[in-house]
Parts: sequence; C-alpha cells; structure tokens
Amino acid sequence: MFCAIVAGRAPASIVYRDRVALAFMDVNPVRPGHVLVIPTAHRAQIWDLDEAESAAVSRRLPALAAALKAATAADAVTIFGLNGKAAGQTVFHVHFHLVPVHADDPLLRRRGRRVTFRLVLRRASRAQLDTLARRIRARLAQPLTLTADRHSLASGSRRSGLRDVRGA
Ligand code: AMP
Repeated sequence: MFCAIVAGRAPASIVYRDRVALAFMDVNPVRPGHVLVIPTAHRAQIWDLDEAESAAVSRRLPALAAALKAATAADAVTIFGLNGKAAGQTVFHVHFHLVPVHADDPLLRRRGRRVTFRLVLRRASRAQLDTLARRIRARLAQPLTLTADRHSLASGSRRSGLRDVRGA
C-alpha cells in the first residue's frame, strides 16, 4: 500500500521525500500532525532493513520531529513503530509514527505501575492533511539549516539533504 504512495500512484500529503525515505501525513491521525516515515524500498518490518537502509531512514527523524514539534506548537513528540501483526501492525511496510503531543492531551498515562497509551484514530480531510504537511515542510528547512550551521557541515550529503527538503 505504501509502495503506491512512493510510486505516486496513491494520494498522500508529503512532508519530506528523497531517494531512500519518505514522510507523509497519516490519513487517520491519532493527533493532528501525525506523520509516518518510511523507507522507499519495500520492507515489511524493521528487521528486514539492512544497516545502511535503517541509518538512511533514521537520520531523518531528528529534523522531522523538530519540524513537527514547531509546526504544531507541541510540547513533545512520541515516536513509535509496530513491527509484526502481534504488535498491532496493520500496514506491512516499515514505518515510524511521529505524533505531536500537547501537555494537556497526553498520549501516555502513568498510574503507578500501570502505563497506558491512549490512541484514538481521527478523521482528517485531504485539505487538512495538506495544510499540516505544508506547515511542517516550512519548518523543516530551518532545523536542518541550523544543524548544518552548528556543526559547520558542508558535506555533499548534507547539502543534498537540504535540496531534497526544498524540492519536496
Ligand atoms: P500500523 O498500525 O502501525 O501498521 O499503522 C498504519 C498506519 O498507516 C495507520 O495509522 C493508518 O492510519 C495509516 N495509513 C494507512 N493507509 C494510509 C494511507 N494511504 N496514507 C496515509 N496513512 C495511511
């Protein structure tokens, strides 16, 4: 199913795209701004990724999470992945969920030793998803630029990362 999005055959509100990774809005967000990050290659579960594929997807997560947090004025971002049917995975193409969390509407609750996640799938229109994707994209250029400046990175890969974002 996600391969159709990668191929451009299915609709999606794209947040970030490059050769190895794709980020787009979840159609049933558990919170407004819920993003999915996937490898563009079809891999069912995380253990099907080799180290290079895993690294290529994972290294996008900090900037995406920062952009998401800023774009939604969230207090936090929860990142999780379900791998395997028994874990609750429903789409068998590896994906990371990035969910913005506000302090007054926590995703995770602790009562003593009892820890529960409250995940309610909500409906969102394509127009709403597109608007959120645009907001996150607008924030995405900033953290990447700042990170590049902070570490004085001028490598080709870092530069091509910035181009990827602006072209998305
Ligand atoms: P999981 O249950 O972890 O496998 O998550 C699958 C996620 O994919 C769910 O949150 C769905 O709402 C989401 N999803 C399914 N189809 C699409 C789609 N075509 N575009 C965006 N998100 C989707």
